[in-house]
Amino acid sequence: MRSEICTCQGLNSNCKKCFGSGFVSTETVNKSASKSADYKKGKKKQQFESLISENLDLLSKNEVEEIAIKIIGGLDLKSKKQMQILNAIPFNTTTFRRDFGDKFELLGLIEAEKQHLRNELLIVDQEIMLKNYKSNFKFKHFLSDKDLDVTSNRQLKELIREYKKLKNN
Ligand SMILES: [Zn+2]
Repeated sequence: MRSEICTCQGLNSNCKKCFGSGFVSTETVNKSASKSADYKKGKKKQQFESLISENLDLLSKNEVEEIAIKIIGGLDLKSKKQMQILNAIPFNTTTFRRDFGDKFELLGLIEAEKQHLRNELLIVDQEIMLKNYKSNFKFKHFLSDKDLDVTSNRQLKELIREYKKLKNN
């Protein structure tokens, strides 16, 4: 069965279209003319929302921290989803790239968003340093500070292995 990537990218576990899987069957997509199909046609470029307001320098310490926490929360959530997707790919088969192309596509979309969030976090971090604040934000997910190369089977397998090791300790 062909499937398309859901607009929520599987990040909303209560999603009525994909129920948190991130994928909807093509039939449903055609019927509802969902936006997700537009991703592939390139009609709708992936849009990145900025969590940073323009007047970052005017914000209080708490407000800046709140933004940082939001960004980190986003990175953690997307990382968790990426790991779920990775765990659902049978890397021991020879045709997983072909059979699970949509999963790799979703991984890549999420990775692009994570890259955007990392860039934002960098800006917030600079502001925190400028203000001489101390910050010790911590990522809650293993993948949050990892750059995923979605094209590298080796790197992906290594990350899964490392993650499992970490979980078992
Ligand atoms: Zn969805």
